[in-house]
Amino acid sequence: MIVDRLGRRFRNLRVSLTAACNYACTYCVPDGKRLLKAQNELPANELLKAVKLLQQATGIDKVRITGGEPLVTPKFDEFLLGVMDLPLSDVSLTTNGQLLMKKKDVIRESGLRRINISLDTLNPLRFKQIARGGDLETVLQGLDAMLELGLKVKINMVPVRSQNINDVVPMLDYCLERGIELRFIELMRMGHLLHSSGFANDFVSMEALLDVIGSKYEFERTDAPYDSTAVRYQIPEAGVFGVIANESEPFCKACTRLRLASDGFLYGCLSSSNKHDIGSLLELPSHRLLPKLQGILVQALGDKKLAFEGEVTVMKLIGG
Ligand code: SAM
Repeated sequence: MIVDRLGRRFRNLRVSLTAACNYACTYCVPDGKRLLKAQNELPANELLKAVKLLQQATGIDKVRITGGEPLVTPKFDEFLLGVMDLPLSDVSLTTNGQLLMKKKDVIRESGLRRINISLDTLNPLRFKQIARGGDLETVLQGLDAMLELGLKVKINMVPVRSQNINDVVPMLDYCLERGIELRFIELMRMGHLLHSSGFANDFVSMEALLDVIGSKYEFERTDAPYDSTAVRYQIPEAGVFGVIANESEPFCKACTRLRLASDGFLYGCLSSSNKHDIGSLLELPSHRLLPKLQGILVQALGDKKLAFEGEVTVMKLIGG
């Protein structure tokens, strides 16, 4: 097993099916940049092959399907059904939810149990201003459909001071009423935000966020799994929410994540531009491929930082 001096190893794999997205969220892509695929994206069967090999080489036992927006690509059905057939302890999906009604049947058929839906506001106008694509009502219908199927749903919200800080409490009310865990993701200095003068004003720290929530709710810190990215809080007799406090309480020293981008490149760290091509190795016989893969994984583990330092790569390319 490949382990670094902090005891970090790869356990969780995030697979970006495509870099294309039907949204253009203000914090994810800069103005005017449209929703492009990466060059040379791999088909579903090759991505599945890569997942199997990574499982053999590293012992990863959890896979999250992400993007870009994973539901926009025709690969989604084949990949989901294929990955659900692998001997993994957990498979989950991160989506903006816009196409969930269309994908309801394949999700039911696949037996998927967990889904994270990204949603930054319940206000239709602000939704359009932030996502710059899609429609709020369609997402909420898809979300209800997932609850009806019995999936465990979490919602991801990125609080941005100039955009949706007033939506924090209404979003929490909505989630608590439905038994959904809401996770606030601290704004990350990625892509165009790395050198943006507006970042400092828009960043909402965990402390500031807890102040906003404290205006309505009492809460106390509760347990989170060892390698969880979220700090979790219990609201007595109401439910739980989480904060992915990338800046305020970095979780890099316990990070077990590996990312496979849609073009077959591996990323060991969200805060590093280093990427490692495994797509071009997939045709090699396994006695030649596995040793090469082991070498690449050592390099990818070596890319892991001790704290998030910001990254010029756009999240939607690496797979958020
Ligand atoms: N399209 C899918 C979705 O919307 O969930 C999956 C990909 S998206 C890149 C994954 C998550 O990354 C979303 O919850 C999005 O809000 C978040 N995200 C993107 N850019 C971010 C940034 N700069 N800081 C914090 N979160 C970001």
